[in-house]
Order: sequence, then C-alpha cells, then structure tokens
Amino acid sequence: MYGAIHQNERQEHMNRNMLYRSIPKVDVLLQDESIREMIEQYSREAVMESVHIEMDRLRRFIADSEDEVEAEEQIQRLVLHIIRTVEAMHAPNMKKVINGTGTVLHTNLGRAPIGRTHMEKAFQIVTGYSNLEYNLEQGRRGERYSHFEKLLCKITGAEAAMAVNNNASSVLLILSSLAEGGEVIVSRGELIEIGGKFRIPDVMEQSGASLVEVGTTNKTHFSDYEEHITEETKALLKVHTSNYRVVGFTESVPVDELVPLAGKYDIPVIEDLGSGVLIDLSKYGLSYEPTVQESIAKGADVVCFSGDKLFGGPQAGIIIGKKKYIDQMKKNQLTRALRIDKFTAAVLELVLQEYLSEEKAVQNIPVLRMITEPLDEAAKRARSLARAIRATGIQGRVDVVSCESQIGGGSLPLERIPSMAAAIRPEGISVPEMEERMRHLPVPIIPRTVNDTIMLDVRTIENEDFKLIAAGIRELMGLVK
Ligand SMILES: *Cc1c(COP(=O)(O)O)cnc(C)c1O
Repeated sequence: MYGAIHQNERQEHMNRNMLYRSIPKVDVLLQDESIREMIEQYSREAVMESVHIEMDRLRRFIADSEDEVEAEEQIQRLVLHIIRTVEAMHAPNMKKVINGTGTVLHTNLGRAPIGRTHMEKAFQIVTGYSNLEYNLEQGRRGERYSHFEKLLCKITGAEAAMAVNNNASSVLLILSSLAEGGEVIVSRGELIEIGGKFRIPDVMEQSGASLVEVGTTNKTHFSDYEEHITEETKALLKVHTSNYRVVGFTESVPVDELVPLAGKYDIPVIEDLGSGVLIDLSKYGLSYEPTVQESIAKGADVVCFSGDKLFGGPQAGIIIGKKKYIDQMKKNQLTRALRIDKFTAAVLELVLQEYLSEEKAVQNIPVLRMITEPLDEAAKRARSLARAIRATGIQGRVDVVSCESQIGGGSLPLERIPSMAAAIRPEGISVPEMEERMRHLPVPIIPRTVNDTIMLDVRTIENEDFKLIAAGIRELMGLVK
C-alpha cells in the first residue's frame, strides 16, 4: 500500500518534469516565425519581457495544475500568449468607444467629438511646423490667437478675443486680470458648482478677488447689485446656471440692466455663458438658449464659454469682449500657464469657419448635427441598426423603440430630444452581463440599460459604427465562426 502511494507520487513527479521539459527553450521560441515578426514590429526587449512573463506563468500553471491535458494545451499556446502579451503592452489604454447612451455631450466619454474633416485639416498643421506664432505677412513673431480672433469677433460682434485651456481657466484668468485684490458681485442664485469641483466661490478665491454674494437663491433684484457696489468693486459677474434651473418664484437681473449700472462706476460686466451657443436652437425644436452674440449685443464687457460643449469644438475656454479688457488678459502672466496648444488653435479656427454659415455649422459640427437630427431620420437609422444587430443571429428580441436623448455636459439640463434606439432584450445572458461584455470589446460599446433592455440611442452613433456594433455583438455572444 505504502509502495503504491509512493509509486503515484513519483509518477506525478515525473509527469510534471516531462511537462517542464516540453516547454520550448527561449532560443527556440525566438526562432518562431510569428515571434520574429513581433520583434520586428515592436522590440526585442518587449518580446523578451513577454517571453519571461509567459514562461513564468506557464511554470506556475504546471506546478499548480492537476490536469495534464490542460497543461499540455497551455504549452501549445505559449507562443500565442506571448504575442497577446506583447500586443496588450502596446495597445493604448485610451481608445474609441461607441456612445449608445444618447447623451450628446457625455463628460465621461470626451464631451464634444471633433469633426473628421476638422481633424484631417488640423493633422496637416500639427504634424509639421506651422505659423502658430509667426506672422507670415511681416516675417516676424505673431500671436497664437491671431488665427481665430478676427473670426470670433466677426461671428460674435465682439471687439477682441482669445482662448485658454478650458472655460474654468477663462473664469480664473478674467477674474485675476480684472478683479484681483478687489470685490466681484455675484447673485446667490448663480453660485454654481459644475462637475469636477469647479465652484465659482473657489475659483474666485484662487483669482485673488473677493466674492460679494447678493440676493437670495431664487430672487436677486437690481437693487441688490446697486446697494453692494463700493470703491472696492471691480466687476459684476453673471454666471449661466448651466446644469440646473431655478424655477417658480424667481427673479434675476439680465445683462442689459446691469450694463448701465456698471457703466456708471466704470466697471465691467462679465458673463460666463458656460456652453456657448452661437445659433438659435429654438429653430430646431430645442428650447431657446441665449446666444453669445446676444450677450455681446446687450453690452456685456467680457463673455466666456467652453470650446467643447455646444460650440462643438476642442477643449478650450473662449474669451471675447472689449479690447481694453482682453488686452489686460493677454498681458497677465497666468495666460502663459493657461495657453492653448497648436492643435486647439488650429481646430478652433476650422470650427469657427463653419459658423460663417449656420447651414454649414449644423451640417459639419458633430454636436450640432446630432442635436438637430430630425426624428424621422433617427428612426430610419435605428431601423438599419436593428437590422444589423438581428443579422448577427443574436438570441432574443431586437426592436426599434422611441427614447429621449439628453444634451449633457452641463448644458440645457431639462432638455429632452425625442429620439430612436435599437433595443435589445437578450436571451441566455443577463442585461448586466451583456453590458459588461460590451464594455470589454476591442471597441467598447456604452449602452443605456433600462430594466431588461440594452438601448442603443442612434442620436450619438454614427452610421459607420453600425458595422462595428454588429461585429462586437457577434464577438461577445460567441457567434463568431
Ligand atoms: C462648463 C462650465 C464651466 C467650465 O467649463 P470647462 O470648459 O469644462 O472648464 C464654467 N462655467 C460654466 C457656467 C459652465 O457651464
């Protein structure tokens, strides 16, 4: 009996040894055709690192495994695993995803997508040298804002313009340039927090200006501003309550009423518009949203807004207004720290050119195209997406359903745009599991899930992504042949 156990142990011991021995040697592995290709494509170091990682993993597997057949299979797959490890090491973590949520400005998914033609033109500019800060006419140093300043002025009616890293930077720079060491009056109804801990009172403190809160949460009157103006007052600030609405018994003072008051004391009226709408959205069935042009026309001295909200461009903070104030900002040391890069400067100009014609803007700026897409067009596209999904052979129901898209990104918070979605009610897999698998696809798909349904709102999905969605579903359902 004892002998038999001893015999078994020795048998097992021997088998493991045999398995270890059948692991290919490193120099043999390096002769493998596909491994050599990997070395060619990446580097010898990267491949060697993966070889060691996978060899160690394999040895540990053999040591722990009781299944000889499985262990042999793992040895067979060694080369494949090495290749996958090398590829995973070089695969960028940041990647394209498909936004099926219907939220157009999705803060977690990169906010405003950049138009393809804008990107292609910018590609030519940023992959080589450019006249970013060079005046070609005069053959000497130029200004990085010069490429889009005239356009911005033409479109908005402002005297001067510049741009910084984002709109949070705009507010910081404006306050620091115009109100450092002094007081700025803001209505209590506008002391907002935007996502990511951007709070007006905190930005104010950073800028070196002191906040003077006036009025109440729901009502602020003209006299509230008037009574708080002192020798120390450097500006009146209006902030668009981007991501919430105060409704009911409310009152606020519009810019055109503040302008004469500020004029009397020779101080500027600053307006932070948040999203920066340049066209009248009510023409497209959306709620009316005050435009940048109106703010300037009503006499605001300085206006700022985001580049990647409803404006539909790159991340930036756009600042426009009276030349004497913009000049102060351009001279501020902070500007150097907050300045935009060449990519942003290039794309801003391209996007602004679209705004020279409203028709072109709505066609060529992705965010505007999405929010203005008519319902019947969305319905047509949803039917085509549903057909592509059904054709994968997926188990379960695939329907075309009505849904509501949102703007998101802290813009028009109450707005709901009627839209259409492909709705999947899968069988043989739960909705949470399917959603998780969709997130792990090579091109992840982010759907909206409602109870037992996976919804893909076509408003935020390009036609060319339908094929990718079908391929992804085939892969995650194991329908690949
Ligand atoms: C979104 C927003 C900001 C911040 O803009 P970013 O471009 O995200 O930095 C500032 N103020 C208002 C009113 C906003 O809506």
